Amino acid sequence: MKTERLLRRKSESVIIEPARGRGPRSGSTSARTVRLTALRDEIRRCRRCPLWRTRTCAVPGVGPATARIMFVGEAPGRQEDRQGEPFVGAAGRVLDDLLASIGLVRGEVFVTNVVKSRPVVGAPPGRNRAPTAEEIDACAPWLDAQREVLKPTVIVTLGRIALERFLPGKRISEVHGRLYHQGALTLLPLYHPAVALYRRDWVAILRQDFRQLTRFLPSRKEGPARTQKRSRHR
Ligand code: SF4
Repeated sequence: MKTERLLRRKSESVIIEPARGRGPRSGSTSARTVRLTALRDEIRRCRRCPLWRTRTCAVPGVGPATARIMFVGEAPGRQEDRQGEPFVGAAGRVLDDLLASIGLVRGEVFVTNVVKSRPVVGAPPGRNRAPTAEEIDACAPWLDAQREVLKPTVIVTLGRIALERFLPGKRISEVHGRLYHQGALTLLPLYHPAVALYRRDWVAILRQDFRQLTRFLPSRKEGPARTQKRSRHR
């Protein structure tokens, strides 16, 4: 913790233990595409936890094998369950706006969730709920396998559940927008885009945190918002 504090004082980036699956990517883009497609198909058939019984579609995740930024949310909601794709509802539109704010589009990043089938409560169509620890554990091998194939440069965690999966014990209110380095991998915890649906004033926070990603986009220059962010944590 002392080391962590010292590193934070020096900059807002924090170095923690090495990550699994770091290092250069193996295989060609086409080979990785084949592996991602095979994973997608396996996830669609998965029955590792009881969520398969109530889902319409599993939601493996989407994005090209060339993606260097991986977004990890919590779990599919009702719209995602219907369509089999992540972040297609209102929160997805917020995510698209955030991507656009730094000049990115969906097709350049990989988007998935910690849990691939919709956690639901109540009679159909039911209400979304947070996944249980057992569901998260059951689904973990799929996310690990996707990471292993993609070997992303950055993983952006969206919301509390994804944060807990990658940085256990951290509080989203304290770490959002801060970079955590795990060997060759950088983690960027963000609030879940859905917060912007309930609190419009959080859009500015999300946008500011999102600008951290510009340093991983080769053609982007550091902007004023990023400078402000660094100062805020000193
Ligand atoms: S949530 Fe994950 S582990 Fe459970 S059935 Fe769906 S894909 Fe399988």
